[in-house]
Amino acid sequence: MRCRVCGKKAVYKELGFCSEHFSSYFEKNVADVLNKPFFKEKSLLLAVSGGKDSSAMMFAVSKILSEKRLDFNIKRIESLYINLGIKDNSSYNENLVKQLSEKTGIKLNTINLEEFYNLTIDDLSQKTGKICSSCAVIKRYLLNKFAYENGFDFVLIGHNLDDELFFAIHNLVNRNIDFLVRSAKILPKDEEKRLAGRVKPLYYLTEKESMLYCIINKIPFSTQGCPYAVKNLQMTEKSKQSVLFDSRNKKLSFIKSINKLKKFYPLKKEDNVEPCIRCGFPTTSKICKFCRIIEKAKEN
Ligand SMILES: [Zn+2]
Ligand SMILES: [Zn+2]
Repeated sequence: MRCRVCGKKAVYKELGFCSEHFSSYFEKNVADVLNKPFFKEKSLLLAVSGGKDSSAMMFAVSKILSEKRLDFNIKRIESLYINLGIKDNSSYNENLVKQLSEKTGIKLNTINLEEFYNLTIDDLSQKTGKICSSCAVIKRYLLNKFAYENGFDFVLIGHNLDDELFFAIHNLVNRNIDFLVRSAKILPKDEEKRLAGRVKPLYYLTEKESMLYCIINKIPFSTQGCPYAVKNLQMTEKSKQSVLFDSRNKKLSFIKSINKLKKFYPLKKEDNVEPCIRCGFPTTSKICKFCRIIEKAKEN
């Protein structure tokens, strides 16, 4: 098979691209998400984990910015890695994101959960067993807190099309329509609630495409995955999804249809959101989930 642009050997057969034109296609999809006037002169924080998605995102964004492919300037761009204290995993990944930071020239910030909160995911998992949902709360909380306290307007996260698909199906099956409707490619900043905005630059790109982009561009990324995620729900469900949604086009069409339907569903106001009495960040209960996790970890 040949590249449909230049006729060279295709490395991405699904859409028919050589390595050069695949990279252009990938970066164009990322640039299309970011090329919106409300990002003009804003400060952006890239959430990096060492995995293929966030690494591909960081590399693509750095390339787009250095080649001035947006119609305006960004005020500041940096990245953040959260070291969760997972044995044989967190330090290894931290080293990978350091290499990526050197390669792209984007400053890397790190938060070490053990240093800051005297807590590791390994300790927490021994106490509580199931860990994935707590880990997600911790990451989300710390990303927002860091962004908010350091003047970043938006956090960029490496959620891809497969993640969106999983999220949409999962929420439909569980009748969580409010959750489904609230999720978006771009969520604006809410200064009053102390919430930085959230952006998903890989919204139109699949997992497979992130992987290929990393390989083609020799981007350092971890293939080992989280040891706790081996049998989590998301991984099992995603492998079932890939049978029914066996092409990027089907995934994209499904998400686009969902987005059209969302417009007909009124967005419920979250009027029960209040500042956490411990930390001041928004929560729907008196003490936020993050502060409860930290308290629970101290108890034992
Ligand atoms: Zn080509
Ligand atoms: Zn709190």
